[in-house]
Amino acid sequence: MNKILLSIKNIKKTYGQKEALKGISLDVYKGEILGLLGVNGAGKTTLSSIIATLIPATEGDIEFNGVSIYNDLASYRAQLGFCPQRPNLNPQLTLEQNLRLSGSYYGMTEEQIDARMATLTAQFELAPFLHQRALVLSGGYKQRFMIARSLMHSPQLVLLDEPTVALDPHIRRQLWAIIKELKKSGVTVILTTHYLDEAEVLSDRVCVLDHGQIKLIDTPEKLKADFKMNNLEDVFIALMQEDPAKII
Ligand code: ATP
Repeated sequence: MNKILLSIKNIKKTYGQKEALKGISLDVYKGEILGLLGVNGAGKTTLSSIIATLIPATEGDIEFNGVSIYNDLASYRAQLGFCPQRPNLNPQLTLEQNLRLSGSYYGMTEEQIDARMATLTAQFELAPFLHQRALVLSGGYKQRFMIARSLMHSPQLVLLDEPTVALDPHIRRQLWAIIKELKKSGVTVILTTHYLDEAEVLSDRVCVLDHGQIKLIDTPEKLKADFKMNNLEDVFIALMQEDPAKII
């Protein structure tokens, strides 16, 4: 049986009068890649920001390994990696300095930082860039580095917010391979994306948000079979055409 890592319980979020999330409940299983999909404004960023503890929920709870994250946010954050859509590296620091900064932020010792940095540098093929300043990296390497940095403290759960946006197809494929490797190494991934091909290739399950609610959640295979479609993009379009006003 799949073990639940994260349990989202009736999460609501209002911004003034706007109900961005209207009661989201879902379980994320240990070791899975969960794709978070939805048209612009569906609530993906709001939900991932709440899971990342960047903003508070208006109502509801989130349990991590059966314990409310709000009981001890620091312990939860130590198990969480977050890779935002826009690179937030310190551009004047080298990659090594950026990694060291991240490691010390999470209270790692120098020895732990050295060991982890060596592992990630090899895994993400970053050695040639380690002593270069972050600002000189290409978009693809910046994103690759951002994922590596989010893993510095060996989190159990990683949130990737549109990790391949605006990258060329070749670089996107490289990042897909990296994300698959993350899963193989036992990391649980929540992947927000607008790319349906990406969601289909990478996700064990996809969750489609619509107007702040879960429209459906299932495996790509099951959705394709249910909708009698060959790919997830067609499923998504069909789903949104159920109410033409919601098409992007
Ligand atoms: P996108 O794909 O465009 O990033 P999204 O699915 O991530 O969209 P959210 O950014 O979570 O959607 O927005 C959900 C709803 O909440 C939208 O109607 C948005 O306008 C509204 N919203 C988001 N942030 C705020 C805010 N800070 N203040 C007011 N309304 C907000």
